Amino acid sequence: MSNKKKYILPLAMWLIFESIAVTLWLTKDNLFYLFNFSYIGTSISLGILLFLHDYKYARRIVQLLVGLYMLIYLGLICNENMQIEGFWYYLFTGVFEAATIHYAVAKIFGPLIFGRGWCGYACWTAMVLDFLPYKEPKGSRKKIGFIRYITFTASLIFVAALFLCHVGNLEQIMFWTFLIGNILYYITGIVLAFLFQDNRAFCKYICPITVFLKPISYFSLIRITCDKDKCISCGKCKRVCPMDVDVTDNSRGRVNGTECILCMECVRNCPKKAL
Ligand code: SF4
Ligand code: SF4
Ligand code: SF4
Repeated sequence: MSNKKKYILPLAMWLIFESIAVTLWLTKDNLFYLFNFSYIGTSISLGILLFLHDYKYARRIVQLLVGLYMLIYLGLICNENMQIEGFWYYLFTGVFEAATIHYAVAKIFGPLIFGRGWCGYACWTAMVLDFLPYKEPKGSRKKIGFIRYITFTASLIFVAALFLCHVGNLEQIMFWTFLIGNILYYITGIVLAFLFQDNRAFCKYICPITVFLKPISYFSLIRITCDKDKCISCGKCKRVCPMDVDVTDNSRGRVNGTECILCMECVRNCPKKAL
């Protein structure tokens, strides 16, 4: 890639986020949106710039910049529940504010463009799990992905029950749900990672958000494809993929295609630059 092109992509990404930032700032008359989306857009653009300059830890830097900001600043300081329970909560109250906008951009409409980029670059749960030792999963995939539908339904029933039972002080309950929910996610994620020798086991089997992410990312505009003329079928890309994607198959229905988190490990490791 030419030096000029190495700056065009991050700039384009920055402009997309800046347009969202300015639009929401002006339509919602709230300066927070300008700050929030400018910060996230700048972090992601910086990550792309570093990646295009072959910096090994580019993705991890974005994960930390965005993940910590969301967990600590938005979640713990601003009291904004960005977990799925928070999404249901704001949806039931009819408030189209930070958490619902976050879901709309990152997890419902955004994946039509950038697939599961959220999972690779912004999720604060995976931000911690990616530090564990099993970056390349050992062993085969387990057939327990149905658990995600149970956690998804449980989160919906939990929030619906709070409303149906007219429980008071919901703001406070949502804060504690965020705190306790995150602690449970981290504990479960770490235990599963060691049990299955797979850092991303939580993402593959438990995470309720994948109920949104997987079907929508099927249609993703941005996806990794393989140049069959260059590929020598060495299998390296499949070995390094944390999500077990059959990335040499270019069809949308490829094995674990909706699991791709755009981490670029396959691209970085392909000896023939076929991806
Ligand atoms: S699957 Fe869930 S836990 Fe894993 S990165 Fe995506 S949103 Fe985060
Ligand atoms: S790593 Fe590259 S060359 Fe090897 S199988 Fe994958 S795409 Fe083909
Ligand atoms: S290694 Fe490649 S195919 Fe696997 S998740 Fe990362 S980008 Fe997607």
